[in-house]
Amino acid sequence: MLERCEELTRDTSLPSVRAWKERTGGVAIGFLPIYVPRELLHAQGVLPVGLMGGGEIEIIRGDAYYQSYICHLPRSTVELGLNGSLDCLDGMIFPAICDVIRNLSGMWQMMFPAKLVHYLDVPQDFDRSMGGRFYRHELGVLSQKLVEAGARPLDPDALRASIRTYNVHHGLVAELYELRRREPWRVPTAELYVMLRAGLVLPVEEHNGMLGEYLEAVRADESRRPMDQARVLLTGSFCEQPPLGLIKTLERAGCYIVDDDFVQVSRWFRHALPEDGDPVEALVEAFLDDAIPGPTRYVDEGEKGRDLIERVERAGAEGVLFCAPSFCDPALLDQPMGTAAATRAGIPWTAFKYSEDTGQFQVIREQAGTFADSIKLWSEVTTP
Ligand code: SF4
Repeated sequence: MLERCEELTRDTSLPSVRAWKERTGGVAIGFLPIYVPRELLHAQGVLPVGLMGGGEIEIIRGDAYYQSYICHLPRSTVELGLNGSLDCLDGMIFPAICDVIRNLSGMWQMMFPAKLVHYLDVPQDFDRSMGGRFYRHELGVLSQKLVEAGARPLDPDALRASIRTYNVHHGLVAELYELRRREPWRVPTAELYVMLRAGLVLPVEEHNGMLGEYLEAVRADESRRPMDQARVLLTGSFCEQPPLGLIKTLERAGCYIVDDDFVQVSRWFRHALPEDGDPVEALVEAFLDDAIPGPTRYVDEGEKGRDLIERVERAGAEGVLFCAPSFCDPALLDQPMGTAAATRAGIPWTAFKYSEDTGQFQVIREQAGTFADSIKLWSEVTTP
């Protein structure tokens, strides 16, 4: 199962989506990080397909579309579009998380005029009468566009059923994170990561089955024993994802990652959504009141960094790895507030950057290894 998940993570030509389309004749819509309301797409019979860049693919034409001093994900996404890897998708949703994604949605409209392209604007005002009204309207526009792309119209009962299915998914992912938090040796993050990545391209029902099977297997596996590793929280990797080799490197360097920002669409809400009442309202209210804080979501001045400290405490982490993609504005603009909060709280931290196609990990290995050792040797250390 893990081999298949790793293959699905690496194979950017979306073989599982192609197979699904051949089997069902359904509509498949891609979406970029971080969050889209997958329940709504599912209720309209659409397969939501999470895209997280091109990983290690060679960029040939994608570079021509962007200046050199931005992150890697948009150019690799352009490359995937132009080399035919995303042909099986009937459209794309670009959530509002940064200017780069916003511009990419405009470029996509010009490059692929025959496909659905939707820029999903989300509120930064969390008042029900303002941001709530706005977001409800946005969901209506999205739903209508899906119908125009061949999806069935939105039915409240179908949406309630989809919410139930995604609540099961939410619960299983939460269990996985909780098990890793308690016993990180049972759930190596490299495994958790490929499990989550596979969930971006598989039907949720199939992925729920895999998560259940994985949980059962690792709970029963007595060969996995605790090691003397430092417990760390990894933050900053919410959009462009680190290469799998980087995650393995951190673990081999002596870090147990006990909380992270990977594949946040699976954990965007803290709690399960209500399964009765108005299901569109359930999506709206969850977005306003229950979404996790992060750099792409407005937080009042003075509050930045508080969530990080709470997460460190909840996870029982001994240190923080600020691990962000190069040139990622949202992550790197927030980082000084995060490091300041960690320093104030006396929590050791270290920071480094990556790109999705980083292939050399030696420097990071030494940095993370030294960090983990310093935590184990001097638990009171505060990294400058
Ligand atoms: S990696 Fe950062 S800057 Fe790049 S598209 Fe994602 S959020 Fe935007």
